[in-house]
Amino acid sequence: MDKILRINMGAAGGPKATVTPVGAYAGLGGRAMTSGIVSKEVPPLCHPLGEDNKLVIAPGMLSGTTAAMSGRLSVGCKSPLTGGIKEANAGGQPSQMLARLGYAAIVLEGKPKEGALYKLFINKDGVKITSADNLKMLGNYDTVEKIKAEFGDKIAVMSIGPAGEMKLAAASIACTDMELRPTRHAGRGGVGAVMGSKGVKAIVIDDAGAKMRSPKDPEAFKDATKRWVEGLRKHPVTGQGLPAYGTNVLTNVINEAGGYPTKNFMWGRFDTCSKISGETQAALENERGGEGSATHGCHRGCVIRCSGTYYNKDGHYLTKQPEYETVWAHGGNCGIDDLDSIAMLDRMDDDYGVDTIEMGATIGVAMEAGLAKFGDAQAAINLVKEVGKGTPLGRILGSGAAVTGKVFGVERIPVVKGQSMPAYDPRGVQGIGVTYATSTMGADHTAGYAVATNILGVGGKVDPLKAEGQAELSRNLQIATAAIDSTGMCLFIAFAIMDQPETFQALLDSINGFFGLKLTANDVTELGKSVLKNERDFNMRAGFTSKHDRLPEFFKKEALPPHNVTFTVTDKDLDSVFNW
Ligand code: SF4
Repeated sequence: MDKILRINMGAAGGPKATVTPVGAYAGLGGRAMTSGIVSKEVPPLCHPLGEDNKLVIAPGMLSGTTAAMSGRLSVGCKSPLTGGIKEANAGGQPSQMLARLGYAAIVLEGKPKEGALYKLFINKDGVKITSADNLKMLGNYDTVEKIKAEFGDKIAVMSIGPAGEMKLAAASIACTDMELRPTRHAGRGGVGAVMGSKGVKAIVIDDAGAKMRSPKDPEAFKDATKRWVEGLRKHPVTGQGLPAYGTNVLTNVINEAGGYPTKNFMWGRFDTCSKISGETQAALENERGGEGSATHGCHRGCVIRCSGTYYNKDGHYLTKQPEYETVWAHGGNCGIDDLDSIAMLDRMDDDYGVDTIEMGATIGVAMEAGLAKFGDAQAAINLVKEVGKGTPLGRILGSGAAVTGKVFGVERIPVVKGQSMPAYDPRGVQGIGVTYATSTMGADHTAGYAVATNILGVGGKVDPLKAEGQAELSRNLQIATAAIDSTGMCLFIAFAIMDQPETFQALLDSINGFFGLKLTANDVTELGKSVLKNERDFNMRAGFTSKHDRLPEFFKKEALPPHNVTFTVTDKDLDSVFNW
């Protein structure tokens, strides 16, 4: 991975590609690369959909190697949803393929003339840029089918649906999985709208003829990656819980803990959550059968395999196994307890190309506004259809919960920096509230998953209902996460490396064996800090202050049943998170 592919979409005479050496960005990967380029090259006050913003796509440091779990992709830009820096992380096949083709990053720059739409084909011979007029306003599923007919099925595809073409702030970028389905999304922050603003409908990647990346010290690398896999298989969460039930194993756990946001964050428990739990979902998927129904990886080389495939009542493929956050967003958050409806909403989100968390939270706000009744699944489906059709209502909903709440006069809007909160109420899980408030990304559970320690007892124990210790917990997790997101590793490895020092060491040894380095745990911490420092610096220059590191006031005023708690972490504590 020693080169960067830059494509100026606004060049005179049509898009122009140049390949440059990685230069000053050498050694970076994933989030460190995307945030490094965005913070250095994007004017913080630029319009996110304008010519000065850049869309940066970067495989992780270990992507394209034989290291298990290393196929995550980072997508960065200035976010149209938050107005700050963004790194959205996705699974699927593109990361491994780009890395094997030698690309440390792809940077889309400039802006084409209005209405122009292109597809990029990248293989070992370089890049070809052609018109994508035949794909205009197609959903991601039809887009991939047409691309398959043209290029065959040994490819990976990154694409946007109608939402991205309409430049809606909830738009995602779909990445194809091992079955070449557009099910893995760089979901958060409207990265799909930025790809739409660059006039790029799809990026087709073909790694035929490219080799697996080879380590500097093959023996050390082989030994470390073996220990790495053993450690992941040994831990109860990565070795048993996630493979058996997927991320939706959390529904019963978070509900029991009283931190399951229900009906637009009104309650911390959902009475009928057992109907949509991971256990129920796994039983249903097993009963309906089909290949990959029980356990499945989102990319080659995943050994946790937290995913699966969802088949409808007639036994036909509908969507990938909806994630916990999706089941919550379209389920409990909207009072809906029907898995088939939730799976249909997941399929629609993937096809239109919108973030399932943002869309579910938006529908929850719309229900509070009276556009539909809580629990009415068909009404939720009809509202999401409006997004796909691009009606005026659909464009409002597709702009996310903050815009929707403002348009319809709703006071209770669960967002930070304009981005919707995920599936953990910050009153019932106060540590995640600190992460929501202070993350450079807006409300984002993956930025510092304090749920692990607050609820699951991983990496120690901090009382979820008290303020004490939460700022420090979130700080440490945000630093560690920024580093993990740079390696290309799936974040779920965190469970094993937080509890098992020898598994953390195996990861470190894998990096050292691959690059011929002698990094220590301190170096990893410094990497995480430097990523956060770049991101904070960008956000400050974009106009963010400590006042933006706050939760909406209703979390401090309304007590959450069943524990009847408010969010009690002080502003002083929140402002201490980045003081290290
Ligand atoms: S554990 Fe799950 S999310 Fe992570 S790489 Fe594997 S399938 Fe994808």
